Amino acid sequence: SDDSTEKSLLEKDHAYTWHHISAYNEKSPPMIWESAKGAWVTDHEGNRYLDGMSGLWSVNVGYGREEIAQAAYDQMKKLAYVPMTQSHKPAIELAEKINELLDDEYKIFYSNSGSDANEVAFKLARQYHQQNGDPSRYKFISRYRAYHGSSMGALAATGQALRKYKYEPLAPGFLHVAPPDNYRRPEGMTVEDYNRHCAEEIEQKIIWEQLETIAAVIMEPLITGGGILIPHRIYVEKVQEICKRHGVLLIIDEVICGFGRTGKAFGHQHFGIKPDIVTMAKGLTSAYLPLSVTAIRKEIYDRFDTGDDNSHFRHVNTFGGNPAACAVALKNLEIMDEEDLFDRATELGDRLLKELKCLEDHPFVGDVRGFGFLLGIELVADKEKKEPVLNGYMTKIMAECKGNGLLVGRNGDTVAGFNNVLTLCPPLSCTDEDLDFIIAVIKKVINGNTTFSQSEERLDGGQECGENLENWSI
Ligand code: PMP
Repeated sequence: SDDSTEKSLLEKDHAYTWHHISAYNEKSPPMIWESAKGAWVTDHEGNRYLDGMSGLWSVNVGYGREEIAQAAYDQMKKLAYVPMTQSHKPAIELAEKINELLDDEYKIFYSNSGSDANEVAFKLARQYHQQNGDPSRYKFISRYRAYHGSSMGALAATGQALRKYKYEPLAPGFLHVAPPDNYRRPEGMTVEDYNRHCAEEIEQKIIWEQLETIAAVIMEPLITGGGILIPHRIYVEKVQEICKRHGVLLIIDEVICGFGRTGKAFGHQHFGIKPDIVTMAKGLTSAYLPLSVTAIRKEIYDRFDTGDDNSHFRHVNTFGGNPAACAVALKNLEIMDEEDLFDRATELGDRLLKELKCLEDHPFVGDVRGFGFLLGIELVADKEKKEPVLNGYMTKIMAECKGNGLLVGRNGDTVAGFNNVLTLCPPLSCTDEDLDFIIAVIKKVINGNTTFSQSEERLDGGQECGENLENWSI
């Protein structure tokens, strides 16, 4: 396309659409994506980029899968819509498949987004306790730095104040505790003791809040959007044990970690726990169509299945379990099976971590950590004090990655200014050459930025971490 069309597309974009989170920046306007295949995205000017974030941590099988498009087309032609009070074959088959992946008996409730799935989980948990004769259990515990969605309940569960404070009051009854952040644990404390201590904080909260007022704990298997914080298994096991002992339900948010991202069907399976409720979205359809799931353990569901409409779950969702979205999810999971993408995630992730771990010798790389095909590089201005780099350094690194053809993410704790973790979450379908490319660009860019000047930082467009987040990877 010629210059004028390009300009007018960008101008029209700025005139008519609104993008989330980042302010419009003339020097770095939004990309206009034109097409994509495998791990590679092409913009409207024909520039190609390897999408190191799989969109928003979601395109697990990669872009441009003809068979997924075909599955959607076939289903739409045959039967485009079914209301949630009724059922259809793709929804039934998908529920069966998810049960197989969960390796236990769960009931599947469909919605359209990760936020929706978490809202359903909260409502179910409250109603469950009411029907169990425990109506005072209405509170939820989640962790600081976690992201659980954008609606009033899911945002209340989110532990990043900067995303919330302009929209308060959010749904009441959400409490937060610190997650384990092994890199920043107190000096002299072992990882094991520290993780035990963090889990005990949840128990303390339950006790201080008057024991029988807590409905559920919600957590991701590892904190993703808050900066790739990977717990020791002691933490996850202990949280489950505490929940069980106090009659508190455990909701595991698998919106990012599910469907192979960590090398297993679900992230929590690495820790041998059995959550009461599991929420999923993103990788379920690899984002080809919107679909999410709240999976509820059979014993919990039984409380709702009394034959009495009044005990049933009163929650309507017009698009939930859309036939085409279910057909797409089935095809997506079939591809993952056929191409062995869960094992491939482990293989790719192990290599990525091994290759990039050596960056810890760099003066500004504090920590390189990964779990499955999910990686975080924490950048610090001072290794001793672990002081985060300023915004300008992060945006410079990200811009240089993009300049070299690699899109990367950026996450962290936006409250404390630790928005300093470079994130990678590439499609599980990456080829060996794609992985080589990612490794080469990251090494080149990070190794090419060994000086750091505060004044340069500010000139480079960034305030100190805060408002100008450029945190597009959530
Ligand atoms: N939970 C987690 C862990 C997420 O990362 C996200 C989205 N990034 C959500 C929930 C919300 O999902 P959605 O944007 O589909 O509402």
